[in-house]
Amino acid sequence: MASNEKQTLEDIVPGHTLTLDFQNLDASIKKVIAFANEHPLDAVVSTDEDAVTLAAMISEALGLPHNPIFATEATKYKDQLRKILTRAAIPTPMANCFSITDPLEEIAQKVTYPCVLKPIHLSASRGVIRANTPEEFKSAFIRITKILSDSEVKRLGKGVTTRAEAAQKILVESFISGEEVALEGLVQNGKLTVLALFDKPDPLNGLFFEETIYVTPSRLSPIVQERIAVCTQQACDAIGLKEGPIHAELRVNENGPFIIEVAARSIGGICSRTLRFGLGVSLEEIILRHALKMPIDSLQRQSPASGVMMIPIPHAGILSDIEGVEEAVKVAGIEGVTIMIRRKQKVIPLPEGRRYLGFIFAKGESPSDVEVALRKAHHALKFTIT
Ligand code: ADP
Ligand code: CA
Repeated sequence: MASNEKQTLEDIVPGHTLTLDFQNLDASIKKVIAFANEHPLDAVVSTDEDAVTLAAMISEALGLPHNPIFATEATKYKDQLRKILTRAAIPTPMANCFSITDPLEEIAQKVTYPCVLKPIHLSASRGVIRANTPEEFKSAFIRITKILSDSEVKRLGKGVTTRAEAAQKILVESFISGEEVALEGLVQNGKLTVLALFDKPDPLNGLFFEETIYVTPSRLSPIVQERIAVCTQQACDAIGLKEGPIHAELRVNENGPFIIEVAARSIGGICSRTLRFGLGVSLEEIILRHALKMPIDSLQRQSPASGVMMIPIPHAGILSDIEGVEEAVKVAGIEGVTIMIRRKQKVIPLPEGRRYLGFIFAKGESPSDVEVALRKAHHALKFTIT
């Protein structure tokens, strides 16, 4: 396992972990090649979005199967993704990329409304803001510029495109109305298999776009689900994604599905706990088996319905108390409640923040049972933020 922070046991069990400087791609690749000479590697799998390009570069250096480097870059930088999809005539928002130093008054008059402004290299909806008027546009633009000046934000986005370049840009897109879904998939030799399609039953219409409930299987009609799968396959083809997990987000309206995002990774954080395949195999095992060319018994998601709620941060402050966890766990269908932020810690909501208070997991006979259970459990929780 390689990480950008030294593992506690690294000195005690040498040869098991490796510390890499994710900022320095060349040095990291050299270090892994030297390591692989001593300890041969069979596959390189990135566990998050920040390292997808590095993982592809290391695979290339070691002669292992991988996604093309330009494809991983396109999934990391939203301006590149829009260009590729638009060129391939795949439905996606119209987009224009601006520099934070461009004349704001002029741009605000030029763009069409409603629109969505966003940084090109962040995730978890951080800095994604809707604007309906030039006034809203200007305040959103200034707010995102501030987020981009954060030193921690400048360190993100490690790819061929430099952090400094990425933190200079703001993407402005047409607002796509409709219902939103997340598609979890595995690409094998270019062919996409849908592992799970999640509905996001809470409307995502702005001002900010906080993730909350994900429920699978989708309640959309089979025809719409098929269109979503076809559109995502076309997007993978256009981007050049050939192998490994993908996490795509689409919005569906009367004009069909639109690609919002395709990432060359699996669903984030601990949300993959909602998924089990075949006789109970985890998503991570599937990804590793695929990377290692080991047999996979089944890519069929275990029924019945399941879901997760990412608990948003309602307002900024210090998390002083958390109550109701026991009560929430007792709600019928709830599989677990995981609180991610400890008491006395600072909490920051969207658009500046990037964390959730925690996660609620549920299972049920039907998607609506799952949704009801998640809402009930969330209602039982009380977070005091002062
Ligand atoms: P991130 O990588 O931070 O998740 P996204 O581009 O996926 O950023 O945007 C986050 C969310 O904002 C999306 O899931 C969607 O709900 C909303 N959103 C983003 N762009 C648009 C758009 N052009 N039209 C409508 N909604 C959008
Ligand atoms: Ca997203």
